[in-house]
Amino acid sequence: MVLADLTREALKPETNPYHMALAQFYAVADRLRLDPGTQAILAHPKRELIVHFPVRMDDGSVRVFTGYRIQHNLARGPAKGGIRYHPEVTLDEVRALAMWMTWKCAIVNIPYGGAKGGVACDPKELSLAELERLTRRFTTEISIIIGPEKDIPAPDVNTDARVMGWIMDTYSMQVGYSVPGVVTGKPLATGGTAGRAEATGRGCMLMAREATRRLGLPLAGATVAVQGFGNVGSIAAHLLAEQGCKVVAVSDSEGGVYRREGLDIPALLRHRARHRTVAAFLQGQPISNRELLELPVDILVPAALGGQITGENAHRIRAKIIVEGANGPTTPDADRILNAREVFIVPDVLANAGGVLVSYFEWVQDLQSFFWEEAEINERLERQLTRSFNDVMETARRDGVDTRTAALMVGVRRVVDAMEARGLYP
Ligand code: GLU
Repeated sequence: MVLADLTREALKPETNPYHMALAQFYAVADRLRLDPGTQAILAHPKRELIVHFPVRMDDGSVRVFTGYRIQHNLARGPAKGGIRYHPEVTLDEVRALAMWMTWKCAIVNIPYGGAKGGVACDPKELSLAELERLTRRFTTEISIIIGPEKDIPAPDVNTDARVMGWIMDTYSMQVGYSVPGVVTGKPLATGGTAGRAEATGRGCMLMAREATRRLGLPLAGATVAVQGFGNVGSIAAHLLAEQGCKVVAVSDSEGGVYRREGLDIPALLRHRARHRTVAAFLQGQPISNRELLELPVDILVPAALGGQITGENAHRIRAKIIVEGANGPTTPDADRILNAREVFIVPDVLANAGGVLVSYFEWVQDLQSFFWEEAEINERLERQLTRSFNDVMETARRDGVDTRTAALMVGVRRVVDAMEARGLYP
């Protein structure tokens, strides 16, 4: 595909995530008055690696999987971003996610460019041994472009510390010595950091807290619905409940549960540990993922997949605040509707940036082989994320723009500053 053909008029942002990221970018590029050359550079990912690789299955057969690693921009430092395993992973989705990582890292002001990776597979259908072989082979295939100074993967949808441990080990085996800094979100035993597993959910909690402060709404007693009960959603729900919020609904890919008086989150976590899903939790009534989004709550945390709040359902959203734990949950059509209704959105590139922020702390610790206390990590996370929130709010106020536009203005500006300072090679 000739990416240069992606003129604004040709974009389909409601159905294609990369087009959605481009539509958001072009709107901001106009406001920042970026010249056409700079716009063209940033509209394209810098590097795209597509790999089709074989994996031996437990029954002896061989299956070929398709994976991607895309580096969007390296102006501010090595590329950074997660790897997801999902049946619907596509080239354009990974492109969008890589671009959002560039802006996200710049918004929280860490010295990284943006990247993302993914393998089209259904991890639910794979045994643990198959998952390990897939991970090790994919790591080998992308090892030509990753490395602690080049591109540092991390967990994303359906990948976790165990998968990161395999990536670290595979890369280390190939170079002949241990390289903990090649990946973040690792187990503590191999150079992982305290606080990383909770970091994204903790960041969501902090951003919900800052948003309620802005609106003059007390956080204690605020009602919350959380879509997605994975690493982000479950921790966000837990920490918000700890802050005194009433978490009335949660869901996962199997379905959700609703209780007007508030759910017992610790009991729900125990239920999930036993049954692998929050669906069928008895202390509440069943609710679908769609219905959950439309509940009359103070705070909605979409923390599942992208493209959930669209032009079709946005006018039925009743939340006052949306904290985007997922990447790309809200389409541009939905943004227009929600902005007109003055729903306060903490955009993904800020709301879920706690994860990559603590990934950065992990990488710094790995490079120095010197590890910090959890309290110090949480303190730095809170300080840096709150500062970024304030930077974004200040831009929104000064330029009279919505919060997503403001966040992207902060991020894109910082990336362009780096590009200009470096100049165009040769
Ligand atoms: N996958 C996470 C994200 O979308 C974390 C990325 C990282 O830590 O590098 O931000």
